[in-house]
Amino acid sequence: MSAIYTLGIDVGSTASKCIILKDGTEIVAKSLVDVGTGTSGPQRAIEAVLAEAGMKKEDLHYTLATGYGRNSLTGIADKQMSELSCHAKGACFLFPNVHTVIDIGGQDAKAIAINDKGNITQFYMNDKCAAGTGRFLDVMSRVLEIPLEKMGEAHFQATEWASVSSTCTVFAESEVISQLSKGLTRESIVAGVHKSVATKACSLVRRCGSIVNDVVMCGGVAQNPGAVDAIEKELGQKITVAPNPQITGALGAALLAYEELIK
Ligand code: ADP
Repeated sequence: MSAIYTLGIDVGSTASKCIILKDGTEIVAKSLVDVGTGTSGPQRAIEAVLAEAGMKKEDLHYTLATGYGRNSLTGIADKQMSELSCHAKGACFLFPNVHTVIDIGGQDAKAIAINDKGNITQFYMNDKCAAGTGRFLDVMSRVLEIPLEKMGEAHFQATEWASVSSTCTVFAESEVISQLSKGLTRESIVAGVHKSVATKACSLVRRCGSIVNDVVMCGGVAQNPGAVDAIEKELGQKITVAPNPQITGALGAALLAYEELIK
């Protein structure tokens, strides 16, 4: 029997991610374009993943879209599914023992509880407010003049963690500017910014009930070791960062595409 190829695409608020899967088990190619919904990002991500796989659109048997902009892909995707389902699916594939998923992307943060069968039993999500999301970190990176990729390094150089108490991104930005003018180190402010994100993420996790291992973190913010450290300290336990965390949703979408096809 010839192989079945499925495409998962995650049209995010800040980035577009694709995965091509062979027979629902083997990752053939992946792509990430640094712009998301409403841009050329989704189309470019599809072209890039097809080029990496050496395939044409016609070679794909099923395409499933997820992410904030998933509904913009009508005509391209065979089906759309929520990010919750896709992140949970991707995390379960990578870590069969996962029971808690923390996903922090550009626009929202989620905590998902998963049972032994891999089904979602509870979830909480913050998509109302930028605080506690990647957007908050993007704003702070700009104010502090520390590139996102260096935020983790700066975090671990902090000798103390500043208090960033504002619960709104706009007020927190003013708070950070005021702390900078008072002479607080940028490192201590970065650590305080990460603690602020961690507090919000952990409140979502706790609302899901008791925290059951393994705890897996995915989404773009999982690439920031400072944010991961602050969440571990806030939760009081180790968390596992998914490999290529930003594409976990696309992976889940490609897996669910395969399930749809063989139904
Ligand atoms: P979305 O699906 O909404 O586009 P992602 O899961 O792709 O969101 O995550 C985007 C967020 O990831 C950005 O807002 C940014 O804060 C963070 N991020 C992206 N790349 C990096 C990096 N190299 N280091 C640290 N953080 C990153």
